[in-house]
Amino acid sequence: MYEEENNGVTAPAEATGFVDEILICKDCGKEFVFTAGEQQFYAEKGFQNKPKACKACRDARKNAAKAPREYFIAVCADCGGEAKITFQPSGDRPVYCSACFEKRKNAQA
Ligand SMILES: [Zn+2]
Ligand SMILES: [Zn+2]
Repeated sequence: MYEEENNGVTAPAEATGFVDEILICKDCGKEFVFTAGEQQFYAEKGFQNKPKACKACRDARKNAAKAPREYFIAVCADCGGEAKITFQPSGDRPVYCSACFEKRKNAQA
């Protein structure tokens, strides 16, 4: 996914003014390289802080933030299928699977 990054290939320091820096990831405690290219990127973006976590940990965090937090499995009141919902089913309201939810929404419109 990130293969296009020139891993291991470092621009000469005199070209960019940046040199690879070894940092310690605060998440996994491993050393990681804050590459000259990344430093340049940070500088261009105006970021003041160095990355605190390695790429793997930052990616993991990004993916965790993107993933749906939690969902509950309920039985669809319409087709009886599996309905994934992001809230705790209260029991006093019917729950529909996404297909039936769409169907009902379109039928009402
Ligand atoms: Zn890490
Ligand atoms: Zn359904």
